Amino acid sequence: MKSLDQIAAGLQGYDPQAMTCDDVHRFLQQLVTPMARTLELPLLQALGRVLACDVVSPLDVPPHDNSAMDGYAFAGAQLVPEGAPLTLQIVGTALAGKAWSGTVAPGECVKIMTGAIMPVGLDTVVPQELVTASANSIRIPAGVVVAGDNRRLRGEDLACDREALQKGELLTPARLGLAASLGLKTLTVFRPLRVAYFSTGDEILSLGDAPREGAVFDSNRYTVFGLLTRLGCEVLDLGVVRDDPALLEAAFLDAANRADAIITSGGVSVGEADFTKVLMKQLGDVAFWRIAMRPGRPMAVGRIFKTKSASDARSTSASSYENDSALKSLGDSGAIVFGLPGNPVAVMVTFLAFVRPALLQMMGAKAAVQPLLQARSLENIRKKPGRTEYQRVWVSTAADGSLEVRSTGNQGSGVLRSMAEANGLLVLEHTQGNVAVGDTVNVMMFDGVV
Ligand code: AMP
Ligand code: MG
Repeated sequence: MKSLDQIAAGLQGYDPQAMTCDDVHRFLQQLVTPMARTLELPLLQALGRVLACDVVSPLDVPPHDNSAMDGYAFAGAQLVPEGAPLTLQIVGTALAGKAWSGTVAPGECVKIMTGAIMPVGLDTVVPQELVTASANSIRIPAGVVVAGDNRRLRGEDLACDREALQKGELLTPARLGLAASLGLKTLTVFRPLRVAYFSTGDEILSLGDAPREGAVFDSNRYTVFGLLTRLGCEVLDLGVVRDDPALLEAAFLDAANRADAIITSGGVSVGEADFTKVLMKQLGDVAFWRIAMRPGRPMAVGRIFKTKSASDARSTSASSYENDSALKSLGDSGAIVFGLPGNPVAVMVTFLAFVRPALLQMMGAKAAVQPLLQARSLENIRKKPGRTEYQRVWVSTAADGSLEVRSTGNQGSGVLRSMAEANGLLVLEHTQGNVAVGDTVNVMMFDGVV
């Protein structure tokens, strides 16, 4: 476990007041570590979890050569290359789950169903709709099949003893199905990540509170809940915490003791008059950044220790963790903390840009950079080089089949409506300048993530 100072010392040109998005990613990659604990789950409970071991196929899938079509199986060597029709006598029927075990002589064929084992010596299937059939023979027109057609080979999906799934893969529906095709009843997965969340701010109302002047309902608690749940995390909802040192301290310590990671919103901006930042500093090892991005400039990142004494121990010793026996004995028991800005869209954007990849790394997932799509802008967009901007957009398919992208309206960092109406975020890179109508731009699609 590296301290923030140690990570910072290893990053060229580290400046907490002027972080690029790339700097943030590099920092977070070193801050978080994949968790170790695993558990074995029945397949139906493993959806969305991260696989904790490689899976080697214990058998061939499919277990036999079999037919890919309903039709007639025969020996393909009888097909003449120059192409003449072939007439064959039907000598039996092979059904899926009920093999045909007789021998098939030249000039003969077996009626066969999809999935049925190929009778010995036969390697080709002609689909039934391509032949002219009578009661006990078929005529295959010239040129409709070649030897080996419509036959699935034993082990062509997965060969015995070959790696079928890899540690760190997220268990998607296809991967669950694949595990089931190997006959596996359970999978070893990483324990789900436990993430505590609370909103801060004296002006934040919980649902059901009576409205009062200057106050707004807490929306961040719900967007973060949704984002974490979609990611497969266990969410500990600690509600709204007022700007009161005792309450904030209690919330941070409770969160650090129960969760692997803590997410808060609000109270991290420059000049913020509240106690959130003060408490984070006191209770852990936390950096406060200004990120060259929009929305979402301020962000706090680090660790909150499980007990208050850990931070006391730290402040009275040299900053090196190795020399600090109190901290050493705690191991990596601190919870990672992400202090997000308060503005509702800034919360979602910083979550998607930074928190999500960091949590996936903690969950043991293999690094998977989300691919960006390229789309044509339908609007002029003003953009200053020197910061990354995320704009809420609607991506659609134009008449010519290409993708085009349109703003969903007011891009204020507190305007959730334009986020709710978007299906993606346009990503204007750090060095990029203004965009003109018709320019190609990068888009991060929500695709069920948001
Ligand atoms: P802050 O980062 O605390 O300066 O907050 C920035 C803006 O976001 C302010 O207008 C807050 O009222 C608003 N805000 C902060 N937390 C929340 C929340 N949980 N739900 C909705 N709006 C919030
Ligand atoms: Mg505030």
